[in-house]
Amino acid sequence: MPNTASRLDVFSESVIRGTTRMSDQYGAINLSQGFPDFDPPEAMLAALEAATRGPFHQYAVTWGAPRFRLALAAKIRKFAGIDVDPDQDLVVTCGSTEAMAAAMMTTCNPGDKVIVFSPFYENYAADAILSGALPIYVHLRPPTFMFDPDELRSAFEQKPKAIVICNPGNPTGKVFTRAELTFILGLAEEHDCYVITDEPYEHIVYAPHVHTYMCALPGAAARVITCNSLSKTYSITGWRLGYMHGPPAVIAQARKVHDFLTIGAAAPLQEAAVAGLELPDSYYDGMTKAYTARRTIFLDYLRLAGLPYSEPQGAYYVMVDIGSLGFATDTEASEWFIRHVGVAGVAGSSFFREPTHNFMRFHFAKRDETLHAAGAKLMKIQEIRRGGQ
Ligand code: GLN
Repeated sequence: MPNTASRLDVFSESVIRGTTRMSDQYGAINLSQGFPDFDPPEAMLAALEAATRGPFHQYAVTWGAPRFRLALAAKIRKFAGIDVDPDQDLVVTCGSTEAMAAAMMTTCNPGDKVIVFSPFYENYAADAILSGALPIYVHLRPPTFMFDPDELRSAFEQKPKAIVICNPGNPTGKVFTRAELTFILGLAEEHDCYVITDEPYEHIVYAPHVHTYMCALPGAAARVITCNSLSKTYSITGWRLGYMHGPPAVIAQARKVHDFLTIGAAAPLQEAAVAGLELPDSYYDGMTKAYTARRTIFLDYLRLAGLPYSEPQGAYYVMVDIGSLGFATDTEASEWFIRHVGVAGVAGSSFFREPTHNFMRFHFAKRDETLHAAGAKLMKIQEIRRGGQ
């Protein structure tokens, strides 16, 4: 081990991005790292071209370009139904990834505890550790990924500083109900704890499930810090645009963290993204419909391939139970899928605190033809496995 900071010894590099590298090496269809293989809306591409010729090549205001913050506040008002002051309550970040890390650094002192549901998106534990905080894990039990209210209550009794909620959930596809979120907020109020939510999949929710904006629940204004991203909603994961909103006193502190970490998100991209934020409601309806159709295509193939899964209620991931394939570990399974099936998925253990090795996470944010090509390969797994590969 080199003589570097010891906090780095307790987590590894991203398994998701490592799987993408291996997938590329073997030329597999990459359903591991969640990003689309289709283009952003045309209006955003046109705005991006125009932005390259505009006066946007130097730093934007550190907490976000004014036009972008105004457009964000309008969109938040439209969908979440709350008023966010773009000058006081909002900071633009490099993706929700930076927003989540900044939210934890803003709220936690070294030694503070943070509740994280497991399975969890891999960044959360790393963010807690980088902030010097200690994660307390509360189980989301497969296959439904419900939590036990008593287990959550006893986690709150350990006096956490914050709880992290990913809704809709990555990797579980769980959409928290209004009742669940109200229960969590009640506990947070009782124990004077911050709630940090990560909601990049707010518009990818499958009927009859609906997205509840936690920031809009009664009492949320005092303690809910919402992190979000434009990556998934507008298919621009490479633009790295996100934001955080919450109580102004917290945001004032978060701006300092953000300023010294990154100064700001890319100025021309903030300008271009305004065109996305101003798209009509029909854009979001169309996107939900398109993802519902992609989900149907992919889940049908999983069924035909004999692979059990937990049906996602939201987001674009599915946890597949690979226990029956007889691998010693899910890491071995993930490598086998890449090399012998030609489809990449993430080893599920990277999301679990518990020693769980019978899941792989696949995503379906891909064009129909990509999903059909992956599906055709998955249909052959039993045959390839029996053939001793
Ligand atoms: N959010 C995406 C995923 O979960 C990609 C993020 C990443 O690169 N880790 O796959």
